Amino acid sequence: MLKTFRVAILLFILVSVALGTWRANTRSVEWKYALPVNIYLINGDGSAVAADYLRSLTIEDFKPIETFMRDEAVRYGRASHASIQVRLGVKIDAQPPAPPRNGSALEVIAWSLKMRWWTWRNTDTIGPGPQVKMFLLYFDPAQSKRLAHSTGLQKGLIGRVNVFAADSMTRQNNVIVAHEFLHTLGATDKYDPATNLPLFPDGYANPDLKPLLPQRFAEIMAGRTPLSATEAVTPAALEDALIGGKTAKEINWK
Ligand SMILES: [Zn+2]
Repeated sequence: MLKTFRVAILLFILVSVALGTWRANTRSVEWKYALPVNIYLINGDGSAVAADYLRSLTIEDFKPIETFMRDEAVRYGRASHASIQVRLGVKIDAQPPAPPRNGSALEVIAWSLKMRWWTWRNTDTIGPGPQVKMFLLYFDPAQSKRLAHSTGLQKGLIGRVNVFAADSMTRQNNVIVAHEFLHTLGATDKYDPATNLPLFPDGYANPDLKPLLPQRFAEIMAGRTPLSATEAVTPAALEDALIGGKTAKEINWK
């Protein structure tokens, strides 16, 4: 009897969480109001370089993400409020749980739950409606030559992004942040994971361009501008990226 009761309560909690998540995911792409995107700065390696760099950052450094989303919304015939509002949250001293490397499906689910719990513990939500929370972890480029890959979770509207703490990277970092942010809205990757090359046609910003290569812009969910059949580069800034038709559909713009 008691056991049935406990199982019933647990099921009730699970269904409530699932429903809440589903509602937040649906409402995040309703585009009735500008969607708040909160950015939290974290020193990823505890270095003095990252600490200094974090102190130098202001909301202005992240405005290009807002401009990118607004311009693209308008290009798809949407109102400019079918866009986002970037906010700079407090600096967080705790480290969000790292995603498992080549984890099983179960490990990934466990991490996603841990990440949501950690977010709930470490951030406040100001204002009503769904909001995206992006955690940006900064690393000293002299200490870390390569960064672990970043993730955006649709469940919970949370992004965990690893970036370099360098003035020369500020603009390019926004390309990574925008890519992971769009994952939280349900946009899928449009590159071949084996080669990192953009997939044709969905990973091309202008799939109708003649000649097709080199492309001038990167499709944001492909993450790279295709230059030749074997070569693609990460754009220097969001000004060199676009949202392709498939991604626009995925985020309910088409
Ligand atoms: Zn991705």
